Amino acid sequence: MLDIIRPGDPAYRSVRHVYTATGSPAAVVRPRSADEVAAALGFARESGGPLAVRSGGHGISSVATNDGGTVIDLSRLDAVEPLQDNLVRIEPGARWGDVAAELSPLGLAISSGDSGDVGVGGLATTGGLGLLGRAHGLTIDRLTSAELVTADGTIRTVDAEHEPELFWAIRGAGANIGVVTSFTFRAARVPVVAHATFQYRVPDVASFLRRWGETVEAAPRTVSAFLYLLGDGVALATVVVTDADAEPALTPFLRVAPLLGRHVQLTPYASVVTATHAPQTGQQRARTHSGLAVHLDEPVAGRIADLVDAGFGQLLQIRSAGGAINDVPPDATAYAHRHQNFSITAVAAPGRTDFDAAFDKLRPALDGLYLSFESTFTPQRLLEAFPPTTRQRLRAVKAAVDPDDLFHQNFPVSAH
Ligand SMILES: Cc1cc2nc3c(=O)[nH]c(=O)nc-3n(C[C@H](O)[C@H](O)[C@H](O)COP(=O)(O)OP(=O)(O)OC[C@H]3O[C@@H](n4cnc5c(N)ncnc54)[C@H](O)[C@@H]3O)c2cc1C
Repeated sequence: MLDIIRPGDPAYRSVRHVYTATGSPAAVVRPRSADEVAAALGFARESGGPLAVRSGGHGISSVATNDGGTVIDLSRLDAVEPLQDNLVRIEPGARWGDVAAELSPLGLAISSGDSGDVGVGGLATTGGLGLLGRAHGLTIDRLTSAELVTADGTIRTVDAEHEPELFWAIRGAGANIGVVTSFTFRAARVPVVAHATFQYRVPDVASFLRRWGETVEAAPRTVSAFLYLLGDGVALATVVVTDADAEPALTPFLRVAPLLGRHVQLTPYASVVTATHAPQTGQQRARTHSGLAVHLDEPVAGRIADLVDAGFGQLLQIRSAGGAINDVPPDATAYAHRHQNFSITAVAAPGRTDFDAAFDKLRPALDGLYLSFESTFTPQRLLEAFPPTTRQRLRAVKAAVDPDDLFHQNFPVSAH
């Protein structure tokens, strides 16, 4: 029997909201198997109203809850099972911090992101730009097969031999295609990482960014680096190196700008990405925009500096891409952005609609976007996430497996 939580049930409070939004669904179904996911889809169809699919509830797009509809909450499907040959079967409701904790004692890791509370399902169906990205690729690049429940309730195994088009599509646009109930990844051998944090004084954002960008691009691919511009002339960087002998790779980062603080430790990857499992109450409501860039050169750095000066107050993050991520051909996965070296994300309070116009001034200098960091789905944003040939191919896949467009909640390729 399906586990269905409705308003008034004691557990309702703990399942109605997500990290980035509050919600009032009529029913939250918590399946324990792929068969139950298929049954939950049937239940949602019969019930009518909106549908939401939820894994870890950390979607920036805030569509993993709704008002008056059905939420399929995959949190009970949270197994992490190491197999042989560094393969690992992981269910979508697991959090990346839990995955890292399970794999670290085996000397293994899968690059995910900078937050251990992010769910496996949402991230592993869009990309996964993480702190091992330049060394080991996007999360989706380590996927060898998946179990997928499509709109008609069919449970399919998708990999390079079986249903290759579906396998291509779920690596970048999974939310359009169905519900992934199990992922098999090939983990990388990562016994230890050097985890460095640098706090910089940044009197001039544009020139700092140019130097930062050059330093990252010149670094060996064992280095991945995330930068957080905090405003008030301060930036914080996390740099992860997959070599135990990290000093040569880290030294150039000491020279990017005057340092206010620094810390380096050799540690298992699991201590870099930890899960808190904090209750979700819509505590992180925000307006978020994303863009990718090949270099942090003058047009990009100057416009980011203008955005910082405009003072939207929350956060501007720049993540390294490149390295192993760009070894993958653009048509190998539905995430097509394989020549950019940086991902830029700006976050503002939800009420700041003037933020959209400010970020739009940066967009002409950008090159595509990563949909997991964008909270608006206008036609232009869709085109930036899925370039024309990718979008055309996705629409063909979708027409075959989801002709009624059941899965249209998150960056819907069928729209417009
Ligand atoms: C604090 C924070 C830090 C982050 N850092 C990073 C980072 O460093 N790198 C990075 O790449 N991303 C990062 N992200 C973005 C993150 O990858 C996405 O928001 C992702 O969607 C979250 O996954 P989830 O399972 O928690 O989300 P959910 O909110 O549960 O799901 C988001 C959407 O994904 C789809 N979906 C979820 N599960 C499935 C499934 N099993 N099958 C098919 N579709 C599904 C649904 O449309 C759902 O609405 C971060 C997000 C946050 C909030």
